[in-house]
Amino acid sequence: MSDLNDRICIIGGGPAGISSAMYLQKKGYKNYVIYERQNKIGGKCFSPKIEVNGEKRSYETGAIMGAITYHAVHEVEQFAGVGHDDGPNMRRMYRDKTGKEIHPFEPKIDFSFSKMFSLLKLKRQMKKLVKIMETKYKGYDCYGHRGVAQGRYSGLSKGLDDALQMIEGVNPNLKDLALPFDQFCKINGVEEVMRIWLGPYTSFGYGYFDEIPAAYVMKYLDTTTAIEFINMRLWTWKEGTQSIYEAANKKLDHPALLNTEVVKVERPAEGEKGKIRITVKDQSGERTEEFDQLIVTTPLDHFAKYADAREEEKELFGKIIHEKYVDFIAKFPENQGPTISGYIFDNMTYDRLGHAMVYYHRWEDQKANCPSTVYALRNHMGSADVSYDDTIRMMCEDMKTCGFPIEERLYEQESYYCPHVSPKDYADGWYD
Ligand SMILES: Cc1cc2nc3c(=O)[nH]c(=O)nc-3n(C[C@H](O)[C@H](O)[C@H](O)COP(=O)(O)OP(=O)(O)OC[C@H]3O[C@@H](n4cnc5c(N)ncnc54)[C@H](O)[C@@H]3O)c2cc1C
Repeated sequence: MSDLNDRICIIGGGPAGISSAMYLQKKGYKNYVIYERQNKIGGKCFSPKIEVNGEKRSYETGAIMGAITYHAVHEVEQFAGVGHDDGPNMRRMYRDKTGKEIHPFEPKIDFSFSKMFSLLKLKRQMKKLVKIMETKYKGYDCYGHRGVAQGRYSGLSKGLDDALQMIEGVNPNLKDLALPFDQFCKINGVEEVMRIWLGPYTSFGYGYFDEIPAAYVMKYLDTTTAIEFINMRLWTWKEGTQSIYEAANKKLDHPALLNTEVVKVERPAEGEKGKIRITVKDQSGERTEEFDQLIVTTPLDHFAKYADAREEEKELFGKIIHEKYVDFIAKFPENQGPTISGYIFDNMTYDRLGHAMVYYHRWEDQKANCPSTVYALRNHMGSADVSYDDTIRMMCEDMKTCGFPIEERLYEQESYYCPHVSPKDYADGWYD
């Protein structure tokens, strides 16, 4: 985009829409409009306030945490004047499917030689993975997926430097990233590391390792980010993740227009110049406005339904798969909830689809009275979906099995989550 006076339409007031507007504003574009169909900013970052013992605090029903590698989030934080140093500490424990506490990464508790041996193997393979990602898969950590299926990389590297670096190059090994993550680990002799990646990947709703191309796993949970997760050096926000985007929105010259849904997009024919006509619906009805540029931050397979999608777009967007990630904030009878977050490891395989995989206990000082968010996936490529109602029922039973009977479910939702393409479509160059 070259003309700073271009009129630019941004569809969606979630993190991507608000960040886009911030970047445009920083570059001097003055004429952008954000349309958001809901009555709130933040999209899947949603941090409702709940009163416990007479005090209202933020809880999370969407994004919870970030890490030092979240460069773009940090830029928005700085723009918004929001910090992450006063958020609650992340704490966790592990359970099996019977609810029993387990210690999979602690060699001294429940000591056995086989456990010791497998932890040593895990440590060796972790080191190996870090090394091969830096050498054999050099360039894997660039933001974005373009070129990867052709063995090329170009873009901002996700390194730890404050100043992000543009890198580019050719590396045919990157083609391996189209493989499902379990196969990628197998060909590299690092299968054990899946035990580490499983928690912050599958239980956080990003899918199962036999269906997800390794690129999605390694680009999101690159080795630096994974190590931050292991060591619990994570960012959280006192007022909730949503507060970052609400504060950033207030700093924009043109804050998002809420309760305004984009219902139609008409672009000039391919190769022709002209305005983009956007029809929006709000309380006063429908109206059509003209723009020079369009930024879409909403699911592209949905876009194909309300916009003038071209044949190639229809075909490509029709290949997008998403996860069905269910979560709710659970309220427990007095003193009967968890006191720390828990990973239920046995439930992170697709034969346990629909079961609770993780629960998040946010405020340590609220002990067993803290409402906690419970999460499950109900779809897997090649398996039948578990119905929404059965998923909710199983999640509640799992919490009871862990010793935490649920009194009430607050803020229940299913998210359109982690849009991606299959290993085959990835390898066939979908992104290119
Ligand atoms: C349960 C859960 C836990 C998560 N945990 C984490 C975490 O710990 N850390 C992390 O980094 N990320 C986490 N995430 C992911 C994070 O929330 C998303 O990556 C992020 O919200 C994506 O931002 P986005 O702007 O691309 O999309 P969205 O957040 O989905 O925003 C899109 C916006 O577009 C609006 N919209 C859609 N269609 C239209 C239309 N036609 N017209 C106008 N507006 C429209 C929607 O209402 C929405 O506000 C989590 C998400 C969920 C659901």
